Amino acid sequence: DSTGQANIGVIGLAVMGSNLARNLASRAGNTVAVYNRTSARTEELIKEHGDAGFIASEDIDGFVASLSKPRTAIIMVQAGKGTDAVISQLAEKFEEGDIIVDGGNANFHDTIRREHDLREKGLNFVGTGISGGEEGALKGPSIMPGGSKEAWETLGPILKSIAAVAEGEPCVTHIGTDGAGHFVKMVHNGIEYADMQLIAESYDLLRRVGGLSVEDLVKVFQEWNGGDLESYLIEITVEVLKQRDADSGKPLVDVIRDEAGSKGTGVWTVQNAVGLGIPVSGIGEAVFARAVSSKPSQRAAVQQAFPDRPDIAEVPDGFEDDVRAALYASKVVAYAQGFDLIIAGAKEYGWDINLGNVAKIWRGGCIIRAQFLNRIVEAYDKNPELESLLVDPYFANAVQEGEAAWRRIVGIAAASGIPAPGFSSALSYFDSLASERLPASLIQGQRDFFGAHTYQRIDKDGTFHTLWSDDD
Ligand code: NAP
Repeated sequence: DSTGQANIGVIGLAVMGSNLARNLASRAGNTVAVYNRTSARTEELIKEHGDAGFIASEDIDGFVASLSKPRTAIIMVQAGKGTDAVISQLAEKFEEGDIIVDGGNANFHDTIRREHDLREKGLNFVGTGISGGEEGALKGPSIMPGGSKEAWETLGPILKSIAAVAEGEPCVTHIGTDGAGHFVKMVHNGIEYADMQLIAESYDLLRRVGGLSVEDLVKVFQEWNGGDLESYLIEITVEVLKQRDADSGKPLVDVIRDEAGSKGTGVWTVQNAVGLGIPVSGIGEAVFARAVSSKPSQRAAVQQAFPDRPDIAEVPDGFEDDVRAALYASKVVAYAQGFDLIIAGAKEYGWDINLGNVAKIWRGGCIIRAQFLNRIVEAYDKNPELESLLVDPYFANAVQEGEAAWRRIVGIAAASGIPAPGFSSALSYFDSLASERLPASLIQGQRDFFGAHTYQRIDKDGTFHTLWSDDD
């Protein structure tokens, strides 16, 4: 019997949880119960930001007692074991109809399992993706909740109150049941990897082939940010390039080691895509590019074995515009692949996901927020059954307009010995889909030859096997 005052609680008050709790407390109508395993964090939150809007507890019993019914608590702790530990503590105290929300970066397979287990106990479990880092958590993130419709009815208004707003709409929607929210958050992160890689390739080509200085690059990216590439990631690229190192006076980007790290959500995206048979080559190349960058001894060995690098190709007129066109076309491919993965996941796991709504809630708060997403919203509004984003009239036209430039850039990169795995794999993907015949027929022949795997014919129905003779 809960007599508590708080309509929402947050467990886990590290950077994400405390910012989310402050965001919640700042919105009208919310009283926020807060609790953290180590009470020093709770005390710090209250000390720095006052107790207005907060009811702090030193233990889980106090926390649970401070919640009004249906009790609703958002867990913001370390993904994996930490989350499981807190879920089981809450599950012991919570009663039928109460709602446990996991706002961490959970693997959606874990979310499906947790939802299933808690449903058997009569509890609602909502795994939700939250994107936007610390600032998003505080000022308004993009929120991707899964879980039941029933839980969404209670939770929806609270999440709407704290989400980012884009074009007048809160960046939150009920994605689908059980793990749908964390699945879509995973794909969001995969697309983020691809987008960052494509921007990095643009930077590299402009600098090493185009000969632009870092100051020039700042101007180029600023200009791009005023057009159809306008996005948070281009915006922060400008900021990163502007930054000077205090010690050496050099551009900071020249002082930072060129070994990209990752926390693993990009890897999850690729692993799941491979399992579902969806070619997310843009995301895959981005994950691999980070992995290659982080192998200094292998890079050094190959550099030593191949000291002579190709000459940098001549810079054709309009090179900057060509790079921009290649970036745009490759970005369309990355998003097309990401949305294909969402479609495949929805089918596999039985989720009813509205693709237009996914694009809508990515327009604000999250890392991949961009003008571009408005075009995706329009594309799926016009035709929810699109075979690929590439065939939406707007994107088809954009790709067609940029196609020649895209090919020139991939050619120049290859000739100059500058890696452009994002640009070139995107182009190969596009050419694969656009080719009338693929050499897959030869592969089918090989498979039938060594494994009697059979093949189908273009001229008759049925399944065929050839009695191959390997002597001539
Ligand atoms: P974090 O460093 O991932 O986790 C630290 C928090 O987890 C602390 O509050 C810690 O409590 C708690 N914790 C760990 N194990 C626990 C256990 N067994 N029992 C109880 N509490 C436990 O914190 P974060 O960076 O704020 O991230 C929180 C979640 O949000 C993570 O799942 C993360 O992946 C996700 N996320 C992060 C970002 C970001 O930009 N950082 C963005 C989106 C999502 P103690 O203080 O007692 O150690």
